[in-house]
Amino acid sequence: MSFVKALRCKECETEYGIEPRTVCDNDFAPVEVVYDYEAMQGKVTRASIESGPASLWRYRDLLPVEGEPLAGLRSGMTPLIRAERLGAELGVKELYIKDDSANYPTYSYKDRVVAVALTKAGEFGYDTVGCASTGNLAHSVAAHAAAAQMKAFVMIPHDLEEGKIVGSLVFGPRMVKIKGNYDDVNRLCSEIADKYNWAIVNVNLRPFYTEGAKTHGFEIAEQMGWKLPKHTIVPVAGGSILPKVWKGYEEFIRLGLVADNQPVIHAAQAAGCDPVVTAIREGSDLFRPQKPDTIAKSIAIGNPADGYYVIRIVTDSGGYGASATDPQILDAVKLLAATEGIFTEPAGGTTLASAIQLIESGRIPRDESICVCITGNGLKTVESMQGQFVAAPVIRARLDEFDEIVKQIDETQDVSRPVAMNPT
Ligand SMILES: *Cc1c(COP(=O)(O)O)cnc(C)c1O
Ligand SMILES: [Zn+2]
Repeated sequence: MSFVKALRCKECETEYGIEPRTVCDNDFAPVEVVYDYEAMQGKVTRASIESGPASLWRYRDLLPVEGEPLAGLRSGMTPLIRAERLGAELGVKELYIKDDSANYPTYSYKDRVVAVALTKAGEFGYDTVGCASTGNLAHSVAAHAAAAQMKAFVMIPHDLEEGKIVGSLVFGPRMVKIKGNYDDVNRLCSEIADKYNWAIVNVNLRPFYTEGAKTHGFEIAEQMGWKLPKHTIVPVAGGSILPKVWKGYEEFIRLGLVADNQPVIHAAQAAGCDPVVTAIREGSDLFRPQKPDTIAKSIAIGNPADGYYVIRIVTDSGGYGASATDPQILDAVKLLAATEGIFTEPAGGTTLASAIQLIESGRIPRDESICVCITGNGLKTVESMQGQFVAAPVIRARLDEFDEIVKQIDETQDVSRPVAMNPT
């Protein structure tokens, strides 16, 4: 039994049954899962959620599944950190990091969406799953498919980081590298989904897949003690997670699980791929697709499927957008590592760097609560840090040689900070 009512077109509101589907037949607008919130009243409560498992499946009543979960039984419930040191560095009073770099089992937010999509794929009777990926999705689909004993086809741009490729291949999926960028991969996957009877999680299962991203927002609210941060900064690639963090907040408000503090949501992108942020800055609700050129490969989507909804939600909430250059992204990665002990990938650096810009420009007041969404892990993208550090000295295993090293350390240098070269 679930509270799911239907799939509904986000534009003309035509309703469809619960079936594999990406868009509405009338206007090709995306379809979205709708629920019976009336029926949830009194049944979906703080207590009912708190008594659930220590995974994202504690929010199962708000997810589009019918039976037992088939994937992601240990995914979600990642740390929410009160970032005192980073907050002090930025001069803000109440700063939180939602840390999906620690998500299980593939260290990115994608374990949330894949948990729901593969469960749904199983319910629909598919035995083969696939994805169009910028890296983390391939990694997650491959891992969860192995655990659920499903066949997996993962399609990626040809130039991804080795960590994501090996990290995926170890689980035994069929991997296909496509000559082109993500938008080319995605277009091909739409044709594959039409031709083959497979569940392409972010294409024909997209409405179910994206619902999994709500759990990132649910956890922020629950872990803050059933409260919402005033400001949330979320990275934007295809535009799945930002609208769904927002939907998660709205659902909790609607169910009376949190007070309505009129939350504000902001978009973060890399300067080398910022179609959505550009549109927000220009006050337009339409974006112009871009050709990505950024080290933040996992969010390098030049033609985001849900970009239009990101722009609308951010603007309606009173939020704004910021984009970060590659050097700003790397500096933010190092700052988060040095202050909070978290190593995020360039996507996380993008989000923090954008948050810093929004704070410094006054778009985010320093005395209001702020949550920065960190969505991926830096150990998968070590290439991006190349040239950022002075090489470690190599010595013989002799104390006198070690003493020399210690002597060379400048007394004034703070050895607790990484020794970073300035990337200009
Ligand atoms: C996929 C991804 C995102 C966001 O992607 P959306 O398509 O906008 O949901 C953010 N960060 C990382 C690390 C990702 O892999
Ligand atoms: Zn429609």
